[in-house]
Parts: sequence; C-alpha cells; structure tokens
Amino acid sequence: MLVKKISYYDKFKCLMGECPLSCCKGWRIPLDDKAIRRFRNEKGLWGLRLRAAMHGKVQPSFSPYCFRCPFLRLDGRCGMQLKKGEEYLADICRTYPRIKFCPGSYTELQLDLSCVHVAELFLKYRDEQFFVEEESPEEYEQTGDNDDPEYLAALEKSRESLLTVIADAAKEGDAATLEEALRNAAAYAYTVQDKMMREGVSEAEALQNGFELSEDTEWLPRLFPLPIAVLNQFMSTDFYQEGMQYVLPLLYKLCRMYYKRFDKLSYEDGEKEWQRLFAKYIEGREESVRMYAAYYQSHLLRTYMECYEDYSFFKHVMDGVIGMNMIMLFEVLWREKNKGIDEGELAKIISVCERRVYHNEVVEKELMKMFMKEKRNDTTRNP
Ligand code: SF4
Repeated sequence: MLVKKISYYDKFKCLMGECPLSCCKGWRIPLDDKAIRRFRNEKGLWGLRLRAAMHGKVQPSFSPYCFRCPFLRLDGRCGMQLKKGEEYLADICRTYPRIKFCPGSYTELQLDLSCVHVAELFLKYRDEQFFVEEESPEEYEQTGDNDDPEYLAALEKSRESLLTVIADAAKEGDAATLEEALRNAAAYAYTVQDKMMREGVSEAEALQNGFELSEDTEWLPRLFPLPIAVLNQFMSTDFYQEGMQYVLPLLYKLCRMYYKRFDKLSYEDGEKEWQRLFAKYIEGREESVRMYAAYYQSHLLRTYMECYEDYSFFKHVMDGVIGMNMIMLFEVLWREKNKGIDEGELAKIISVCERRVYHNEVVEKELMKMFMKEKRNDTTRNP
C-alpha cells in the first residue's frame, strides 16, 4: 500500500522516563474492546490488578479522573509494557501519538502535537513539513466508511490550496498578511460547507470553486490575534477548570497568568492591553509569524482530511485558528513574565493547549458554537 508519512515521522521515539509532560498523566485512558477482553481474562494477582484499574462498565478506562495511569512507575516507565511487552498494551497506548488516515487506497501517517516530544519535533522541522511517499508491505485498516474517489481527490487538492494560501502569507512574515490568509481560508471553508449542505452543490464542485464563491466574512472577528473578548469566552468554557491544577498543572499556571493580567480589566481596557502586548511581541518577529503559519499548516495536514467523513470544513479550519491563538496568548504571557522563552518551553505550551483544545470534545464543541453564534447574530442584524 502507498504510505505517505509526515517528514519527521520516523524521528519520533517516546521519551518514556525522560518525558517532561508524560501522556500517562492528566488523561483518561479509554480501552478498546480487544484490550478489555484481554485484561478481563487475566487470572491471579495480575488479573486482580487489571480489574481494579478498569473503571466503567460499558467502555472501561484507566485513570477515569485523569490523574495518572496506575501502571505508570515512579521512574516514568510503563509497568505494563515492561511486564508484558508493547503488543499487550491497549490500542491507544500502543499507537499514541501516531495518527492514521486510511481512506482505502493509501494511508497517511502523522504525529499528534499533544505529545510534547512531537511538539519539539514540529518546532525543529516546521519549515520542512511534507509527505514522504513509500510503498509499504503493511496493510492498514480503513479508517472510515466513505468510498468516493472523486471527492477524496478534490479534498486533497483543496487541502493543497489552503496550504499554499498560508505558505504564501508566511513568506511575507507579517501579521496582517497572515490574518488575511486565515480569513480567506475561513471564508472558503464556510462557503464550501454551505454550498454542499444547503444548496446541494456536489462535493467536488464546491471544493473546486469555493475560493471564487467565497462569501464575505465581516461577521468573523479578527483572527490573528483573536480579540481578548473572544479569548475570554474560550477561557470561560470548560477549557479552564480549578481541578486542572492537579491533572495539567502547566496549563493551570498559564491560565492563572491570564486571569492575573486580564481579570480585573473591562473588555475595552483588556483589548487595549492585549493589543499592546501583541504589538510588543510581534514587532520585528517575522520568525514567530512564520512559526504560527507553520503550526496552522500542521493543523490542516493533520485534521483537514477528516472532512472526508464528517464534512465539517469550517470546524477543521477554525479549530486551527483557536489552537494557534491559545498557544500565542500563553507564549506572550510567558515571555512577559519570564523575559523570554526557549523552544522546550514553547513545545510544552503547544502540547498542553493541543490536549485541552483538541482532545476534549466538550471544549471543542463549546468553542465552535461561539463562532456560529457570531454568524447567527450577523444574519439577524442583516437579514
Ligand atoms: S507525551 Fe510523548 S514522549 Fe511523553 S511519554 Fe507520551 S508518547 Fe512518550
């Protein structure tokens, strides 16, 4: 089968005991059916330990309250893997942070930036993100049900076009050009989805003509950076919770930095302060604009093809805008407090934001609802 791997795919090797932000802490670990059967059939003391660790009747998981996996040893290594080998682990533990998209005729392999080491690799290779193609003897299981080669080909082209729009903006290295490119991407995605869903235009036609047909995006807020009022709405969702201090302490610390600076300000004063901080941060920092453009490209590379199954173009395009803004907000606050940031610290910020924005369905849905509310308000104002 033809396999397309993201360029730095083979560079990944789990840091295990050396990992500064282990994925075995701070998350619920859902178990797949085969693992559940395997674990339930174990006898003796090991079987008892497994059953005590599994919570929930229908779809049990480890670590239901997101503290730490009970098999994580004090030296940071996985006790289950050491005892039974990698093949014995639940699917999620064996495959994370690898992402697979297999529509049937080929497979794309990528890496999830919620893993801190992947975030480090992304920062290192951000200017060299491309697919390496190879024939693999391995057979990959199809990841969805759709079987529409014409739509699949149009979707791939559409992703290429979006990536080009962002790459062209990145060359300029200024915030206003990136803002314009993001607006074009958002307008395109909204139009494509609208034409398909409401007007019944075919997938291929909508994707091909989306840029020409794009509706205006006056109703969207500024996207790079998002206004502080919008960021504040994000912070008021489940994104921030007091309990995070125990399960994701770094993100908790970052959120507290945000509240300390903005909580007592009115929206107007908060926006002035945010504009001041952003202007100070971005001045002469073309490299940072390019980094955020590369982050957005990475997001499209990893998630846009999910439209093959869910047709949620606008969601996938806007998700990336949300992620990049949350990361940038915390980067700016971190720099202010610590008078600078190194790539290791930035990788950790990327990793925790990815965990909270993209691996928490409630947060993701709430964030998206906000943008759609803006659209509805706009339609009411301009019927
Ligand atoms: S976050 Fe990444 S590097 Fe760290 S333990 Fe998990 S898979 Fe390994």
